[in-house]
Amino acid sequence: LIVLDHVDKWFGQLHVLQDIELTVHKGEVVVVIGPSGSGKSTLCRTINRLETIDQGRITLDGQELPQEGKALAALRSEVGMVFQSFNLFAHKTILENVTLGPIKVRGRSRAQAEERGRELLDRVGVGHQADKYPAQLSGGQQQRVAIARALAMEPKAMLFDEPTSALDPEMISEVLDVMVDLAQQGMTMIVVTHEMGFARTAADRVVFMADGAIVEENTPEEFFTHPRSARAQDFLGKIL
Ligand code: ATP
Ligand code: MG
Repeated sequence: LIVLDHVDKWFGQLHVLQDIELTVHKGEVVVVIGPSGSGKSTLCRTINRLETIDQGRITLDGQELPQEGKALAALRSEVGMVFQSFNLFAHKTILENVTLGPIKVRGRSRAQAEERGRELLDRVGVGHQADKYPAQLSGGQQQRVAIARALAMEPKAMLFDEPTSALDPEMISEVLDVMVDLAQQGMTMIVVTHEMGFARTAADRVVFMADGAIVEENTPEEFFTHPRSARAQDFLGKIL
């Protein structure tokens, strides 16, 4: 579904993505881990074309990502993205946050968008908060709204960039539970996270990045018990 073919990117002198080869199949959950600065966020951002690439190709469902314009906006909405900071629209209600995109970008009627929006808010456990504003919700609730908002666009895949790292510990699991549900329902997901419990339960594959390159790729069982590279062994030694 998502294919990165020999992707390279530089920030000036910094070779931030080095010859990245990655294929994510439909329904697959890929967890990306690696040290700070290894290029994980940049990888996510290039998949959504929030960053351009200098070499290589990225395709979504067989279509190469356009560089700009309407075609880019359309294709971008096929991949939902959830960031560390929830980025909800502060002056819109929770329900408005999840209906705006479907109405404006997908051309849904307000009634349709609201019905679907309420369903999604229920599904992530914040249905009763629909008429509140983001600031009235906890961080965990806001992040679940952000997930519902991304899902409201009916994306083909979801990208998560450290979705729980800004949350208080007691709120982490409520967000991870929603993500595990989503994975079990067959959503194609790329998840950057340091939550190794999530990686072990939900990931089909773990991709380990260091210095802009994919150093190692394996099933979670193999990766966590028998990391092959010295970089991965060192990294796991520090976080586990
Ligand atoms: P973290 O775990 O800290 O989130 P990361 O693996 O997500 O790290 P990136 O944010 O992708 O790493 O950054 C990779 C490298 O690219 C870092 O050295 C960073 O300083 C650099 N970088 C990121 N964005 C830019 C930018 N817009 N301009 C220049 N350099 C950048
Ligand atoms: Mg990052």
